[in-house]
Amino acid sequence: LRPAQVGGNWKLNGSKQLVESLVGLLNKTEIPADVEVVVAPPAPYLDLVRSSLKKEVGVAAQNAYTEKSGAFTGELSIEFLKDLGIDYVVLGHSERREYFHETDDVVAKKVAFAAKNGIKVIACIGEKLDERESNQTFAVVDRQTKAIADALAPADWANIVIAYEPVWAIGTGKVATPEQAQDVHEHIRSWLKSNVSEEVAATTRILYGGSVNGKNSADLAKREDIDGFLVGGASLKEEFATIVRATA
Ligand code: 13P
Repeated sequence: LRPAQVGGNWKLNGSKQLVESLVGLLNKTEIPADVEVVVAPPAPYLDLVRSSLKKEVGVAAQNAYTEKSGAFTGELSIEFLKDLGIDYVVLGHSERREYFHETDDVVAKKVAFAAKNGIKVIACIGEKLDERESNQTFAVVDRQTKAIADALAPADWANIVIAYEPVWAIGTGKVATPEQAQDVHEHIRSWLKSNVSEEVAATTRILYGGSVNGKNSADLAKREDIDGFLVGGASLKEEFATIVRATA
């Protein structure tokens, strides 16, 4: 019903040399038949990664704009992605929300535009530490999910993967416990059931992200509503292969 997925978000890291070595590692990694693997290199390396990476591994951009072309200096069009054979885009990452001031509304427009135009989206949501500590976690993920759901045509949910990434767990080494992650994933799925449809709730993958590594991934992956991972730091290391295996 929901094939597992592991995404590697390389963020603002890379060089031709690093990209070539990561592609080399991925090309040697056996991809289990029931796990979809996608990596998100920095935009200048998308073409190199797509042309040198084996086809079983998908490629994602880390951002994209809401117009296909025109006078929008510096932006990345989903048409470029399609032209290069890139199938995914990561949108609404907490770093984009925080440092580049992407509001729920901006994220929702980007998600809807990409999904409508045939690019699959890994849409990121998640609460900050102070929001968790003040018991706002469900309210925050509901608000972020609702913004996306309101913008999205029902049929385009087929192009959506949700990544729950609590901001306090990103790059901190402080992974959510399997219970904490499962609670929120279950909540998101029940929100989808009540507010979108039973089918969307049953079929939409919800990935966990935030300090996932080769050691903690197996226990997280066992939980019912955790369909895989979006991995940052560990996706730049050999350890990524361990996480892929743990997800199968
Ligand atoms: P880390 O795995 O480095 O915590 O990053 C997670 C993340 O932000 C993936 O998008």
